[in-house]
Amino acid sequence: MTQFLDRLERLFAERGAAQYGGEAVSQLEHALQAAWEAEKDGATPELVVAALLHDIGHLVADHDEDAAEKGLDDHHEELGCNFLAAQFGPAVTEPIRLHVPAKRFLCSTEPAYLNSLSTASIRSLKLQGGPMTPDEAKEFSDHPYCDGAVRLRRWDEMAKAPGLATPPFAHFRTYLEMCCGQPE
Ligand code: FE
Repeated sequence: MTQFLDRLERLFAERGAAQYGGEAVSQLEHALQAAWEAEKDGATPELVVAALLHDIGHLVADHDEDAAEKGLDDHHEELGCNFLAAQFGPAVTEPIRLHVPAKRFLCSTEPAYLNSLSTASIRSLKLQGGPMTPDEAKEFSDHPYCDGAVRLRRWDEMAKAPGLATPPFAHFRTYLEMCCGQPE
């Protein structure tokens, strides 16, 4: 467990300074802001961890960070979920895997949400399949991790504030230690 958490911390230290897909924050700032929003919202430790690690797929991927600007969907939610699955249970990995579908879900069910998206997020939405159809949205709303994924998605959208102060990574390591090593 400690080894894996050290590896995560190293990933953020080494690659976290990269810009977060067309936004004015870095990957590390984005992760910390999302986790901070989750904590302030009274989320479970698993959801705080999911918020912190939801874009880890971008950090473990070999391709470049501007994939969306080049018209590519990087499937970072699947990458991240697979990377974490041996160490964390579905309460952490499923909201991560579903945070992109949750965006497509919210775009189809809440017009105000669609209108609030940043330019970069609208660009990637198109690559991710656009808003869900009513049938897809119904199926998604029946998923046991729908609520967690939707909450994560909202923290994700909030976590793009340039210069917003948050607790450091070490603060959230406590949550990682609580949830790591429980893959079942
Ligand atoms: Fe994100």
